[in-house]
Parts: sequence; C-alpha cells; structure tokens
Amino acid sequence: MTTLIKADRLIDGTGKAPLKDAVLLVEGGIVKGVFEGQAPKELVPADAEVLDFPGCTILPGLIDTHVHLNLPGDGSTLEDAMRETEGVFVATSSFAASKALDAGITSVRDVGGSGRTVIDVRRTLELGYGRGARICACGQPITVTGGHTWYWGGEADGEERLRLKVREMVRLGADFIKVMASGGGTVNTISWLPAFSQRELSAIADEAHRMDRKITAHCLCAASIEYAIEAGVDQIEHAGFIVNAKGEQIFDAAVAEKLGKAGIPVTGTLAVGGYMVEAMQAKTDRTPAEQSILDRWLRMLDDNLDQFAQLRQAGVEFVAGTDAGWRFTPVDALPTEIALMQRGGMTAMEAIVAATGFAARTIGIEDRAGTLAPGLASDVLVVAGNPLDDLKALRDVRMVMQGTDMRITPSARA
Ligand SMILES: [Zn+2]
Repeated sequence: MTTLIKADRLIDGTGKAPLKDAVLLVEGGIVKGVFEGQAPKELVPADAEVLDFPGCTILPGLIDTHVHLNLPGDGSTLEDAMRETEGVFVATSSFAASKALDAGITSVRDVGGSGRTVIDVRRTLELGYGRGARICACGQPITVTGGHTWYWGGEADGEERLRLKVREMVRLGADFIKVMASGGGTVNTISWLPAFSQRELSAIADEAHRMDRKITAHCLCAASIEYAIEAGVDQIEHAGFIVNAKGEQIFDAAVAEKLGKAGIPVTGTLAVGGYMVEAMQAKTDRTPAEQSILDRWLRMLDDNLDQFAQLRQAGVEFVAGTDAGWRFTPVDALPTEIALMQRGGMTAMEAIVAATGFAARTIGIEDRAGTLAPGLASDVLVVAGNPLDDLKALRDVRMVMQGTDMRITPSARA
C-alpha cells in the first residue's frame, strides 16, 4: 500500500528549512520520498491512498528521551506508586505507551522501571499486540544500595558487582544502561552528592561500552556531573547543580565548561518543574506545606531555565526529555518540554530538532527514526497550523502514523 500525505509544509527533523506544499510518500511502513509540490508520477501507483491536510504541518514522530512508563504522572510519589505489583506496571506501562503514541510521540526512551516490566512491554509491542510508542529500554537504573529508585531492583555496589549488574541488564534485554550518579526524588537519597565513587562509575561506563551499550547518567549535583564526564558517559540526565537538602542550586561555570568541551548531550527535563508548578498553582487553598513545595519548585524551574541557557552558552547540546510519569508529568508532556526549551532560549526549530533528529542520534536510533528521509520508518505526525510560529500547534494532532518495525535492541535487529 502506497500512501501520499500532503500538507502546507514539512519539517524533516534535521533543522533544514521546511518544505512548502509538501508530499510525503510512504510504503510498507517506510518513507519512500519527501517532495515539494508533487511526487514524481512514476513513483505513485494509480491506487495510492492520498491523505490531504490543508493548513497543516508534517513532522517526524516525536521522541521523548526520558520517560518512566511505570509511573502514573498523576502527582504520586515514587513511594506511592511502588504499592502496585509488577503485573500492574506491565498493564499501566502498555497503556502509557499507547497514550504517548496518540500524542504523536512515536518513540520513547524509558529510563527506568521495576524489574523487567518495561522490557516485557517493549517485547509485547514488537510481537504486534496492541499499539504504543516504540520503546528503547534500560530495565532497571543501576543505583547504590538504598540509592535513587532502588525499589526497582537496580541496586549494586563495588566495581565487580556493578560490572555484573550491567551484564545482567544486557541479559534482560536492555537497549542502553542508565545509572543514578547522584540521589534524587527517592526518600533518604542525597541529591547534592555523588552516589558512586569515581572508580565505580567508571567501571559501569566501561562495562556498558564493552557490551556495546550507550550509558546515560542521572546527575543532580555538579560533582556527579564531573564524575560522569570522567567516566565517559554518553549522555547526562537533568544536569542539576543542587547544593543542599533544600534543593537550592548554584551553577558551576567550570563544570559547565568541562561538559561543553566533552560534547556530552544533556536531557533538560524542564517539564517536571513546569507541571509541578501548574498543579500546585491550581490549588487555591494551599496548606503551608503545599505553599513551600510551590515556592521550592518555582525556584527550581527558574534555576533550571537559567542553567539551560548557561549550559548552552558553554556549548552543551540539549535533547528533549520530560521525565514523564514522574510526579505530575503526564506521558504526553513532550510538547510542553519543547515549549520550555524555547522559553530557555532555543528557536522553535532547534527545540523541534531536539525532540526528533537530534533525539534519535543521541539515543542511537537515527538509522530508523527521528527524521523524514527515504528508508527510515514512517513515523509521522501531522499537526494543524505551523509549530514554527506557535509551538502550541504540536498539541493539535491531526494524524499519527508509526512505521511497522518496532525493534530497537541491536541484537534483535540483526
Ligand atoms: Zn527520570
């Protein structure tokens, strides 16, 4: 079956100027061609289906590089969410993946869940049961004993056991390795100090690379970023500069410069603060405790937007990722993240590329998704209006198409 998708313009995900009066030719779940004006007649069979979207924009399906499909995004803390069993997580994660797809997010990278639940959901989708965003999965984030998200099963300490843990994740079917290099929003963990020693973190990164897996590190303090750079990780999540238990941040220009020089991309997860602030502001009768949460997150969001701009000045490249599932962040948060990246200083086009072509390159799926070019999966999003004029257009979804090949794991691709 050949399908022609027509719209006023097409953004291909590379950052190139949009094509006008665009035609996208799709066949068997694969992009066959991208044209301005008209597709060459010899490529279009007589019985081709034509989908015409006047006033609309064609984009590559979006990619959220930081989600937690296990988590509900309804305000629950991690501790609340962990009352459920793994069977429930499998079911709710499938539901979350389908909601993401409905919003035009055709691929997600899940940066941690319980046991093998997300890997099982990925497999179920690969087998063709149900529909949902293509999932790039790490299994359990590797964390110190009692460290951030330890409930999910990723605890390990000491170089030997950490190397074993990486191998166990690969055995489970991990597409990449996630490590918690500092504490985070888990009770009794320390966000303002590195969790692993330098030798431990370096051992994890070395083992991940020996197993041909990329590794990304959750870092909420400057020292954890420095350790991650030294360990040679491929990506950093959050890149926070927290200095104390109150969550106050002090930007460290020297660490920012090191990070820029290292060329390691960062996932901003600005949406977490955005949704937290929105949820707290929506409550008119705030208790003193809720007011202090609001004050804290207003400050965090401001700091995060400032740091986003300062890190970019230091040469750091940002990739779009939301932390969907965490606290009030819904699974379709990505358009909000893209808008916040624009608020932090990116152009609309730069922010869209951070959620399409650059996202695919960062997580290593650029040979199948992220841009609209011949040979890639037909992951397509059509929205009303022009997102380059107003990013809110990304919420006005007219069509979502997903290529048929759901595989991500290198071994499954062979
Ligand atoms: Zn996260």
